[in-house]
Amino acid sequence: RRKWKRVVGVLKEMEESCETTVGRLKQVVDAMAVEMHAGLASEGGSKLKMLLTFVDNLPSGSEKGIFYALDLGGTNFRVLRVELGGQRSDLDPDVEQQPIPEQLMTGRSEDLFDFIASSLYQFVEKNDSVQSPITKLLGFTFSFPVKQTSVLSGVLIKWTKGFAIRDMVEKEVAGALQQALTRKGLNMRVSVLVNDTVGTLALGHYHDADTVAAVIIGTGTNACYWERTDAIIKCQGLLTTSGGMVVNMEWGNFWSSHLPRTSYDIELDAESPNPNDQGFEKMISGMYLGDIVRRVILRMSEESDVFGPVSSRLYLPFTLRTPLMAAMHEDDSPELTQVARILKDVLDIPDIPLKARKLVVKICDVVTRRAARLAAAGIVGILKKIGRDRSGGITGGRSRSDIKMRRTAVAVEGSLYTQYTMFREYLHEALNEILGEDIARHVVVIVTEDGSGTGAALLAASHSSEN
Ligand code: ADP
Repeated sequence: RRKWKRVVGVLKEMEESCETTVGRLKQVVDAMAVEMHAGLASEGGSKLKMLLTFVDNLPSGSEKGIFYALDLGGTNFRVLRVELGGQRSDLDPDVEQQPIPEQLMTGRSEDLFDFIASSLYQFVEKNDSVQSPITKLLGFTFSFPVKQTSVLSGVLIKWTKGFAIRDMVEKEVAGALQQALTRKGLNMRVSVLVNDTVGTLALGHYHDADTVAAVIIGTGTNACYWERTDAIIKCQGLLTTSGGMVVNMEWGNFWSSHLPRTSYDIELDAESPNPNDQGFEKMISGMYLGDIVRRVILRMSEESDVFGPVSSRLYLPFTLRTPLMAAMHEDDSPELTQVARILKDVLDIPDIPLKARKLVVKICDVVTRRAARLAAAGIVGILKKIGRDRSGGITGGRSRSDIKMRRTAVAVEGSLYTQYTMFREYLHEALNEILGEDIARHVVVIVTEDGSGTGAALLAASHSSEN
């Protein structure tokens, strides 16, 4: 009996440190808005980089023509072609995906870009005339940290995700691709260089003109939003025709003392390759949630024999992946058979009583609920920064419908939101709690699909007259 008591104690302590009351979430909202402000005030003014994208107009639906995109941000790259008819419509792009040969990820930049240019050439050949004198326009999504100097130029700050091409660091990214296209004799111009969140915002805005921000919650997490240029203090004299610009927050690196942090988070961070970095991301995204759960199970297992003898698998980082954690969380069978199977197959913990399986579900619930509620607080932080978190006043009468609140849309992508029902529900619940229902019903979350590819092609279209 004593051992069970101990486990309950571990759970209780963890629940308490993960507490996300509305009061706590509102503090996170305020901290996010304050950090956004600081990041816009000066270079290095906040853990939020608040990167300028130079994207100063978003697709409206009136774009016309054929546009291409190249999406490079992981072990695969994709090429894409979309035909726009001048009216909003369901987009049905042609897409091809290819893995990047491993030796090209660590070799010379010329070889990588020549390889990509060849694939693009073949892709164009299938659909259009490669010889055509009309220059084809390409949107380039490059999801690595880039310091941008215009909408089509930026230098690589550093590689991530297994890439290590030394001669590319601090070099112009779009220029390197453009040179390869020219070497290949392909009449195509790189007309925008963006990251994946910006593509998501573009696609969201194409479908719904009230879209002001985009959030990705997948392996990692990030957000961008539309900001007035006069609020971008660190860039004095910044002028755009529209008066605004998309800002890439790099919000995965957000940090605040108000974030509910546990000893498991501290250990995860300390053992990660990037300690003190990406603190918000480590509490929210798919890369980490499963591993937080593993750490809690390990602690309980060490403190008691509720899970039998301590399984050696529990010591291996990232053995419990987030999709499996989600499957355990959402197991609605009376005997929790999915939980039993996953514990046995993945963690080598066989035959534990139902009571202990229920405990595992509870751990998943606590970890995911905190993640989803923090993501919601982040979103409200953005709305607060741009004044969309409150009504503009009452228009005379007293009924609810008289509240003047502009409809506001947020585009969202990523498997955590689209594939993990509990995560999505907790996120919406928290939006309602923080904003209050009267405001929350004016805020819509729209799921976009493949913004990183399609959105870049749309941006190539909407920026085509500029360069
Ligand atoms: P990206 O790698 O581009 O972010 P996704 O948006 O698909 O791609 O996110 C992948 C991440 O989402 C992975 O880290 C994975 O752990 C997590 N994931 C995938 N499917 C699910 C699911 N059904 N439930 C919970 N997490 C999932």
